[in-house]
Amino acid sequence: NQKFDVVVVGGGSAGISVTASLLKRDSDLRIAIIEPSNFHFYQPAWTLVGSGDYPIEKTRRPMADVIPSNATWIKAAVSKLHPDRNAVQLSDDSTVFYGQLIVCPGLRLAWEKIEGLQDTLGQNGVTSNYKFELAPYTRELIEKVRSGTALFTQPPMPIKCAGAPQKAMYLSCDYWLRNKVLKSINVEFHNAGAVLFGVKEFVGPLMEYVKKYNAKLNFSSTLVKVHGPSKTAWFDVKAEDGSVMRVERKFSMIHVVPPQVPHDFVKESPLADAAGWCLVDNATLQSPAFPNVFSLGDIASTPNAKTAAAVRKQVVVVAKNLLALRNHKQLLSKYDGYGSCPLTVQKGKIILAEFGYGGKLLPTFPLDPTKPRKSAWALKASFLPRFYWAGMLKGKEWITKCSEV
Ligand code: FAD
Repeated sequence: NQKFDVVVVGGGSAGISVTASLLKRDSDLRIAIIEPSNFHFYQPAWTLVGSGDYPIEKTRRPMADVIPSNATWIKAAVSKLHPDRNAVQLSDDSTVFYGQLIVCPGLRLAWEKIEGLQDTLGQNGVTSNYKFELAPYTRELIEKVRSGTALFTQPPMPIKCAGAPQKAMYLSCDYWLRNKVLKSINVEFHNAGAVLFGVKEFVGPLMEYVKKYNAKLNFSSTLVKVHGPSKTAWFDVKAEDGSVMRVERKFSMIHVVPPQVPHDFVKESPLADAAGWCLVDNATLQSPAFPNVFSLGDIASTPNAKTAAAVRKQVVVVAKNLLALRNHKQLLSKYDGYGSCPLTVQKGKIILAEFGYGGKLLPTFPLDPTKPRKSAWALKASFLPRFYWAGMLKGKEWITKCSEV
């Protein structure tokens, strides 16, 4: 059995960045990252991989290359959390003890919740930008489809990068428009939710693109079943009176965004809220029941947009508060709910949606945030990836500024 000052569960955007940030502040800390994957992924670029605007190889690096050299990598999956005895259990049944714990294993993509989906992903016109192996297939399909129906789906909230389902649609439509085939393709967006985007200021500008591409919006329409060989999808459509009708649609291609759930080991632990997410204070990111536990990233209960952009701000809050606690000081760092969703409305142009708790607009630049801009595309396609690998994952303070009281 091993013991560390700090144990970090998950080596994704949050786990690597927060470890690097902590070690920059206190290089004597003994930190272990528990992470089963051989690779670390830069998921925000998968939307651009799907449209053929970014090479897939650049979105993946060996995990060994991103784990800070002065941290210990325990290559295993966590199977149980025991915050009552400051321990985590691994899949091989060994136990690791900690002084402080950071829970950041992301969320789980629940592909199995859509009947038949796993049998046909990556073939028969069924794709998803939510998986490294599949994002290039989206581009392949966009090039192949010349007629018929193209379906794009969005599952119930919360999901990571809530704009990603419609981003896939806009970039596909833009390609078809430029190649003069859009008028032969029936484009449908099926959203389990009731609105196009959660922050009202962005809905109008997005609707302009929906009209431009002649996409048909279907709200309260949840994908429940796919049959690849017959290219058929089924949706449960909820009416205002609460009744549900099953609707069948044939497709040439379907871009699926899977339902997204907390991992069982978090859901079944004493750290979980009623929905299974890791319960923390919205501002300090500390567990109310177990003060030596913090959480950030997609698994955290905080009601922000689940994005790497949110992680960027949360990292400093957790690093500073965790160290304050170690030094018996007050927790002064506060997270304001910042998240960002670069909405790729056409090739070369992005509406850079940045907002905090309650949908409060938090633009980084002094420009109208609802306008599509070329500069925002350049930011996403070339600046942000470099900024991620060389700055955020290295725990560079200037990149992860936070608001403080
Ligand atoms: P992740 O980065 O997913 O990492 C979780 C890690 O935990 C993984 O390495 C995993 O292997 C590990 N893990 C899982 N289970 C266990 C276990 N049992 N034990 C130990 N470790 C475990 N964000 C933006 O900011 N902008 C965007 O434009 C954007 N677009 C996106 C587009 C797509 C298609 C997708 C899929 C995501 C997008 N995101 C975007 C969201 C962003 O990638 C996530 O919000 C971010 O990666 C969350 O970081 P995380 O560390 O919480 O989770």
